[in-house]
Amino acid sequence: MTMLRRLSDERGTPSRDAGPTLVSPASPGTAITARNLSKAYATNAGEPIQALTQVNFDVAVGEFVSIVGPSGCGKTTVLRILAGLVGGYSGSVSVGGQVVHGPTPEIGVVFQDANLMPWRTVLANVTLPGQVLRLDPKACKERARQLLALVGLAGFEMKLPGELSGGMRQRAAIARALLHDPRILLLDEPFGALDAMTRDNMNVELARIAAQAGKTVFLITHSIAESVFLSDRVLVMSSRPGRIIEEIAIDLPRPRSLDIVADPQFASTVLHIRRLLEDTGGSPRVTLAH
Ligand code: ADP
Ligand code: MG
Repeated sequence: MTMLRRLSDERGTPSRDAGPTLVSPASPGTAITARNLSKAYATNAGEPIQALTQVNFDVAVGEFVSIVGPSGCGKTTVLRILAGLVGGYSGSVSVGGQVVHGPTPEIGVVFQDANLMPWRTVLANVTLPGQVLRLDPKACKERARQLLALVGLAGFEMKLPGELSGGMRQRAAIARALLHDPRILLLDEPFGALDAMTRDNMNVELARIAAQAGKTVFLITHSIAESVFLSDRVLVMSSRPGRIIEEIAIDLPRPRSLDIVADPQFASTVLHIRRLLEDTGGSPRVTLAH
């Protein structure tokens, strides 16, 4: 796919080819491995808060996996550990077969807040990681234009973030996360601040983008319907200290449209996850739409 050709030639730092270190037996098709992950924080008063306990999961290459769980159960902590942004945990994580020691170009991250720089154009925001990673500026600009077209923002390259809607800003954040052509996209409640209709549309768009870009996607959400709609597999987390209480394969055919909410299998899966979360004492946000 020329639009999404790899930039590794241009950046000249193919770190993913440097001697992989497996943390445990994982098939060659494994993109993410988490083993016995536990993490405690300290409060201001110095009291420990156990955020995660014995979290184990794998994500296969090309798979779309979501973690759904109640607020405060440790979802963001899992994502930040995978992204190399949080240390001080026990257990191990590997991404692309390499133990995570810090941020890696294997990964692109999208957070709930698009975090665009208000004084830079959309195009200049999307090319920003290229500056940080010292990628070829011309190639970055070209790729940024292609990615903006992919996320439905062709024609908005020279706008400022303040001229975009919330959904458009998140599209730009997704394009920015894909700029360095990571193999894995991590998203932390990327649509949590959007209204329900925009969110539904963004879910359809994210499914399309993930399929077209051919990425492994790991999504954090507290929307059960969103997780079922988008995923090949849903990992359900207990309330804090978070652990995976069930893995659910979602066999619904793709591409999926929003009409899927009327599908009995969709409805029964959503209900099943809601029951699981009720049993764990969490209070997930469940509305008709999500
Ligand atoms: P979620 O994303 O599921 O809402 P988080 O991973 O953000 O959950 O947080 C899990 C728990 O860890 C929460 O109780 C939260 O208050 C606590 N926590 C998160 N980050 C910190 C931190 N930097 N210092 C202390 N406690 C934290
Ligand atoms: Mg969170």
